[in-house]
Amino acid sequence: MCGIVGYVGKRNAGKVIFQGLKRLEYRGYDSCGIASIDGELMVKKDVGMIDEIERRLRLSDIKGSIGVGHTRWATHGGVTRDNAHPHLDCKGEIAVVHNGIISNHEELRKRLEAKGHVFASETDTEVVPHLIEEYYTTSLEEAVRRALSDVEGTYALLVISTREPEKIIAARRESPLVLGVGEGEMFVASDIFSFLKHTRTALPLDDGEYAVITAHGYVVKELATGKEKRKQVINVDWSDEEARKEGYAHFMLKEIHEQPRTVASALNIYHEDVEKLAEMIDATERVYITGAGTSLHAAMVAEYWFASLAEKVVIAIDSSELKNKGVVDENTLVIGITQSGETYDTLAALRYAKQRQARTAAIVNVIGSTATRLVDHVLMQGSGIEIAVCATKTYTSQLTLLLRVALELAERRGRDVSRLKEELQRLPEKMSEVLELEPEIKRVAEEYFNVKNYLFIGKGINHPTALEGALKLKEISYLHAEGMSSGLLKHGTISLIDEDMHTVAFVPAEGENRKRIMSNIQEVKARQGVVIAIASDEPVASDACISIAKCSEEVSPIMFAPVFQLLAYYVALKLGRNVDKPRALAKSVTVE
Ligand code: GLU
Repeated sequence: MCGIVGYVGKRNAGKVIFQGLKRLEYRGYDSCGIASIDGELMVKKDVGMIDEIERRLRLSDIKGSIGVGHTRWATHGGVTRDNAHPHLDCKGEIAVVHNGIISNHEELRKRLEAKGHVFASETDTEVVPHLIEEYYTTSLEEAVRRALSDVEGTYALLVISTREPEKIIAARRESPLVLGVGEGEMFVASDIFSFLKHTRTALPLDDGEYAVITAHGYVVKELATGKEKRKQVINVDWSDEEARKEGYAHFMLKEIHEQPRTVASALNIYHEDVEKLAEMIDATERVYITGAGTSLHAAMVAEYWFASLAEKVVIAIDSSELKNKGVVDENTLVIGITQSGETYDTLAALRYAKQRQARTAAIVNVIGSTATRLVDHVLMQGSGIEIAVCATKTYTSQLTLLLRVALELAERRGRDVSRLKEELQRLPEKMSEVLELEPEIKRVAEEYFNVKNYLFIGKGINHPTALEGALKLKEISYLHAEGMSSGLLKHGTISLIDEDMHTVAFVPAEGENRKRIMSNIQEVKARQGVVIAIASDEPVASDACISIAKCSEEVSPIMFAPVFQLLAYYVALKLGRNVDKPRALAKSVTVE
């Protein structure tokens, strides 16, 4: 959730780190700070937004060509200046920035205080610089290794010291950390994006590894043994341009509009990669597909596809519940869906699966992320960087890929799915047509989204559509929205319907479920409820109806997505919300 950045080289570290931190802003934060060395150790840190702190403290003017920076999302200790990172040892010679949670911090703090160490914050993190100080007899590297052998929990951390002012020690356990290799300069950060402007050569660290970084290079070693490891660098082809807003008011709007392109990319992902996942599913008795938030909703849609198209039971499960609910053994396949490849709960589910000898696979967007290196088989989404906290284009890419896998499995099992395969090929063009409805969607958003409570209902494969539609509205507008299967409405929730509870209903083009949901709409109307219908093909009787082109029910979850995404966007905009960075949320949730 927090972001860390380090730099050593020929430039002014403060400027590079400040820019890097700005690019990590999407991860969510409440305070930030930088430490650098120029003869002595200097620290600037405070509570607030990064630009505000820059104006107040001139963060980027800090001197020196080596430094570390941090944007904090507090887990231990309130949001105060003292708790903001970097944290120092007693002598003010060692600075540490940390992402993660040190779970045995209380015990370590007691031990250190008994030895005379004086703490300046309430954080779990501060035990680390004091431990390093305690062990610093020969080298910083050795001291960090010894300190970390006492530490339990998760971390990505960076350490600098005035006694060895030319190096940064970076270490990782279950929190992301990537090195960026430049010419006569090195970068290290929570993600590639923060240094992409300077270098495209990256080296992701794995769990249990640390790196000794100087301006002229790096060495990666194992924390447990101190043994050197040979690692392969990766070259990132995302352009810096991809990360800009390209004239759109917000990243979210830009990313919604990218969907015809990103769906096309998902259609172009190598057939062999899709085929391999279908084979794995076919060959395994029990298959779980797991994720958190939007990725879980993608998994839930896929559950319907696998059942209806390929007659294969695949169970969608919240990744934080896999351990509690899943029966995981060597006859199990666990497929994780994680845009960032760093979602803590999904990584934990995949690690658990490996531990239980299950096979593993993942659908991931970020190149070189932890999930890609953890599993037996990876399907890359190829959606490009997603900056807005609220996931849009990566959802429809995940769906497109999952539908391809389900169709592949259906064919392996002798089903004729040629009609759907053709429809899928036309999807990018169809998505462009949906996006042309933007002015109408905006009008409906402005006219109808003026109450505090919303219900989103869908039937069959659009039950998860209702959940995802409600999630989009909640996360960026802060209005209350509940998604449910329309069949459940009469089993309790219908008693909430009145003129202050508006209902959004997803209506497929034809068939049994269209009839069912239309009668649910009538039930709501009979209780003075206001209904906004999102229908494929013919409009349906309702207070407002946004109708998209005719499509099969199977494809409709992908086609409906831009509509509810734009609805949420325009509602949030009207309410003056911070669309790209909603309160309390972070793009990738890397803590438990
Ligand atoms: N646990 C640390 C703190 O609360 C780091 C949190 C983070 O990852 O930002 O300061």
